[in-house]
Amino acid sequence: MRTSNWILTAALLTSLGATAQQAADSQPSAPSPAPDAAQASQPAPSPAAPAQAAIPQPAVLPTPTTMDQVVNLFIEREHGLIKVLSNRTPVVETYLQNLQADPQLGPVPSADHYFLGRLDMGESVDRKDYLKEEEKGMQARLLGGFQKLYKVQYQPMGFSWMVYADRTDFDREHYDFHYARREFLGDVRCLVFDVTPKKNSGRGRFLGRIWVEDQAFNIVRLNGTYAPQPRNSYFFHMDSWRLNLIPGYWVPAFIYSEEGDFSAGVKNKVAFKAQTRIWGYDLKKGGKDDELTNIRVDSVTDESAAAQDASPLQAERVWQQQAEDNVVERLTSAGLLAPEGDVDRILQTVVNNLQVTNNIDLPRPVRTRVLLTSPLETFSVGNTIVISRGLIDVLPDEASLAAVLSHELAHIVLGHNLGSKYAFNDRMLFSDEGTYQNLGFKHIPEEEAAADKKAVELLKNSPYAQKLDNVGLFLKALQQRTPQLQALLTTHLGNPLAENGTVNRLTALATLGPALDNNKLDQIAALPLGGRVKINPWDDKAEMVKTAPVAITSARDKMPFEVTPFFPRLARFGSGVAPAAAPTTAAANTGN
Ligand SMILES: [Zn+2]
Repeated sequence: MRTSNWILTAALLTSLGATAQQAADSQPSAPSPAPDAAQASQPAPSPAAPAQAAIPQPAVLPTPTTMDQVVNLFIEREHGLIKVLSNRTPVVETYLQNLQADPQLGPVPSADHYFLGRLDMGESVDRKDYLKEEEKGMQARLLGGFQKLYKVQYQPMGFSWMVYADRTDFDREHYDFHYARREFLGDVRCLVFDVTPKKNSGRGRFLGRIWVEDQAFNIVRLNGTYAPQPRNSYFFHMDSWRLNLIPGYWVPAFIYSEEGDFSAGVKNKVAFKAQTRIWGYDLKKGGKDDELTNIRVDSVTDESAAAQDASPLQAERVWQQQAEDNVVERLTSAGLLAPEGDVDRILQTVVNNLQVTNNIDLPRPVRTRVLLTSPLETFSVGNTIVISRGLIDVLPDEASLAAVLSHELAHIVLGHNLGSKYAFNDRMLFSDEGTYQNLGFKHIPEEEAAADKKAVELLKNSPYAQKLDNVGLFLKALQQRTPQLQALLTTHLGNPLAENGTVNRLTALATLGPALDNNKLDQIAALPLGGRVKINPWDDKAEMVKTAPVAITSARDKMPFEVTPFFPRLARFGSGVAPAAAPTTAAANTGN
């Protein structure tokens, strides 16, 4: 994109200071001035913005010889973790499915809820929401895992309460600790302790079990609830996992909550399961370090043939590229987009397969990125196709992935993505929590219909032409669960896959394939959430999960679009084993 130089500079001169201009000039192949501008002129968008100080390493202490000493150590390490994370504001997402009993399938979703926010891990753990409808100020400050029984009302904060056992009083004065046994979690040998609050130690105290790794004595897992139960409300049960993503510390990553009893004769007041994921601990904010690195390559002279004036069409394309880059940068810095990585290579291969077999030659390459959230959505901005982690998770095979990507490729081919209002940097100046109110990539119904038509054409000319039955099956499975999964199907940036209880994406393919049959164990139409993509909560990098096949033995093992408990394979930092999200039976079974 050498052609872009002068346009870029012109745009920058009108909006940015000299430093930012110099930085962008020196790196014309990746023109991305917006985030710098955002940081320079925005009044403290979020507490994550200050330069992240180096993480202090815990002192090496003598090896304990008694369990009493071990207790002292893990109490000390827990306080150390609370301190180290106190200036962090990671993204926190909770996806909850209410359950009802189905005689054939067991507990199945009856409704769902979605919460997305920033967790302020400072003085008292608090949160800010990305979603408009969740702007109910009083909610956030109540007790954790807290639900009023007379009126079902979920407190988003409650699901992340178990990031720590007890934020303020995790000590011997408030708790009794009883050693239970040794146990391996993944590759990590742990000491297991039961933790009970002392009499009259106050309300909302942790009650349950903790796993402590046996080298530095950090807590790696907490499982339990809070006690005593207040009147007319109660605390959820939670299973909270940490990952050793930075030397010396295990950071909270996944929390699974579940309530409900489906044995005969039980009347559930509350029945649900919920996954809470935390990521974005170390969001890069395009700070000073980046600028210095950029300035160093300044001496390279531009000798490419393109270092000429741009034609009007070239100028138009550069302008669109700038809008695209601005959006990708802004979504990444808001903690919503994974940095470019392994998963993109797979997505790009699929897009490439569609392009090559259809002889599609575009002036700019098509790129792909992973949206870190669970709701099922795709959108495209310029030539960048974005697909959510949740959607990749539930797709049963490569042909279905090709199908959802083909719709966005069709928008690009048909020239639907030529809007460039985001080339103006002022449009990137908003707080991270304001992302959904400030960015949007929805198309008009006519463009949606045209893109679907073109997508089917692209698929029929592609290596996936023989596998479109699977796509039909996926769309049928989606239709079956659509009425119960309104939150999962509510998109925040792109067009929804379903509206008013009906799937409206790629309807021409929806009749293909066999009838949906839950009792056919070899018919895997859609997968549970969480089985394909794992996110590194520290740096947001996305990776494919590698799982061994697990046989499906009943219709209840399929769990399409459902949430399951987490069971990450724990490993120590630098051991070469990447921490993985839990493989689930159905996801593992497909093996593709
Ligand atoms: Zn569309």
